[in-house]
Amino acid sequence: MHTTNANPSQNPAHPRADSSNVSHDEIARFDKLAARWWDPDGESRPLHDLNPVRAAYVAARVPLRGAKIADVGCGGGLLSEALARAGADVVGIDLGLKVIEIARLHLYESNLKVDYRKQSSAELAAAEPASFDAVCCMELIEHVPDPAALVQDLAAMLKPGARLFMSTLNRTPVAFGAAILGAEYITRMLPRGTHHYSQFLKPSELARLLRQAGLELEDVSGLGYNPLNRKAWLSRVTAVNYLLCARKPA
Ligand code: SAH
Repeated sequence: MHTTNANPSQNPAHPRADSSNVSHDEIARFDKLAARWWDPDGESRPLHDLNPVRAAYVAARVPLRGAKIADVGCGGGLLSEALARAGADVVGIDLGLKVIEIARLHLYESNLKVDYRKQSSAELAAAEPASFDAVCCMELIEHVPDPAALVQDLAAMLKPGARLFMSTLNRTPVAFGAAILGAEYITRMLPRGTHHYSQFLKPSELARLLRQAGLELEDVSGLGYNPLNRKAWLSRVTAVNYLLCARKPA
């Protein structure tokens, strides 16, 4: 008897994952937060606090004015808007319909232009291969069933010589303590279940995925964050959150 496998990813962290490298539970979780995405004191508060540091990291490595940039898993558009404000021509994609709607609505408030689309990384890579001067993918890879496939899609979007920027959580006991115990259980800053420890990637593991996608790692920096005074900074400590930059050979 033939049975269809509803979960080809076989990834226990993503019981409702399908072959398009998306976990629908993850999308639903973020869509629930959509209405409060732009509230700096809501659940996206850490993203608000980290955003200026991430935007400056990108701006230090890519001339933003007129650059064509893809922001993959853009959520409500915090980074997309920061890049657009600096003069970049941004395409923001996400599979959450509500988060994309909120991102679009917020443009009325900010008076910026961003091309938001409900699209997967695979779809954008197929539609616009080798088209972007930079690709950003912040705090997404720890939420997808197949991180290697995501990195392949991101690499495919880059023009030769262009740069990829990613941020994610390291798989260390300190990250478990800060991002899961601290943020989801003790302070309850994030809803429980936002993160799955087994999905966190060590920088060495992500570096391997980048290499397999033909990219050259240029920098890995720690992203320091103090939720009490809401300060964020670049550091040498990559044990919790880190940012990296990789380049597609010209
Ligand atoms: N990059 C943004 C938002 C991070 S939150 C920022 O750092 O500010 C993670 C986002 O990834 C959510 O908006 C969620 O809807 C989206 N997401 C989760 N799984 C996805 C997938 N498989 N493809 C595209 N987006 C996804």
